[in-house]
Amino acid sequence: MQLYSTSYHRASSVEDAGKLLSGADDGKFIAGGQTLIAGLKQRLAQPSDLVDLRHIESLKGIKVEGRRVTIGAAVTHAEVASSAAIRAVCPAVCSLASMIGDPHVRHMGTIGGSVANDDPAADYPSAVLALGATVVTNSREIAADDFFVSLFETALAEDEIITAIRFDAPEKAGYAKFANPASRYAMTGVFVAKGAGGVRVAVTGAGASGVFRHAGLEAALSTNWSPEAVAGVEIDSSELMSDLHCTAEYRANLVRVMAKRAVQAA
Ligand SMILES: Cc1cc2nc3c(=O)[nH]c(=O)nc-3n(C[C@H](O)[C@H](O)[C@H](O)COP(=O)(O)OP(=O)(O)OC[C@H]3O[C@@H](n4cnc5c(N)ncnc54)[C@H](O)[C@@H]3O)c2cc1C
Repeated sequence: MQLYSTSYHRASSVEDAGKLLSGADDGKFIAGGQTLIAGLKQRLAQPSDLVDLRHIESLKGIKVEGRRVTIGAAVTHAEVASSAAIRAVCPAVCSLASMIGDPHVRHMGTIGGSVANDDPAADYPSAVLALGATVVTNSREIAADDFFVSLFETALAEDEIITAIRFDAPEKAGYAKFANPASRYAMTGVFVAKGAGGVRVAVTGAGASGVFRHAGLEAALSTNWSPEAVAGVEIDSSELMSDLHCTAEYRANLVRVMAKRAVQAA
């Protein structure tokens, strides 16, 4: 199937991108295109204009100052996976990025696009939530706890641009996912982090309403930070997804297994 016809604009700055979008009838931002182009090819949307964010200088680059990490929205998954600076303070994030899709997806897809898209099976939302990261936009800063609303739904306004993801690297962090063998998306992924703010555990790929924190796992790991602590935690399947890949009960078991592996990895 062919895309509907659309006008392409290469934005030179965040301000320029905002102007180009507001001047369009029904425009859309595009970054790596790894989700958006696939949807357009299936004719699921018909934007009048596409405003490309990928070449905006201020959205590029990774900064690590002490333990504070700032990743520009247009940074690709491959750049995160291979960043020695991030690896030095929070290797779990590099490991997560290296597990996304395939080399093509990792070289084109961006952290900003992934977080904005909020696919319930995407990897980054679990890291952003478990790290208590801040989503920086062109108009405000949004705490991770307030950012993810539901499936493919975030706190972003239509014309708001993510400019960076920022977090303080915790003392320990780990990520484990059970990947769909075809797409590599998470059938269940668990990111665990232990830092100054305590233990945070976020689960992706499993929740019927998207990424979520698990209070039971957080409590167990706060008392005893070890893979064994996870064994006795009850995982309620009633709010998990059942789909063609597996049942909610199967996912409940995956949450426990992935949490255990994530702590081992940390
Ligand atoms: C075969 C395949 C396998 C994949 N496997 C995985 C996987 O294992 N794990 C995983 O997590 N993901 C996976 N993905 C998705 C991939 O990670 C995408 O890169 C990501 O979902 C979207 O990023 P993008 O830069 O391509 O965004 P785009 O597709 O360009 O845009 C996605 C959405 O985000 C919006 N957007 C983009 N950038 C911004 C911004 N800075 N501010 C505001 N809005 C913005 C766009 O308007 C659009 O609505 C896979 C994709 C494919 C095609």
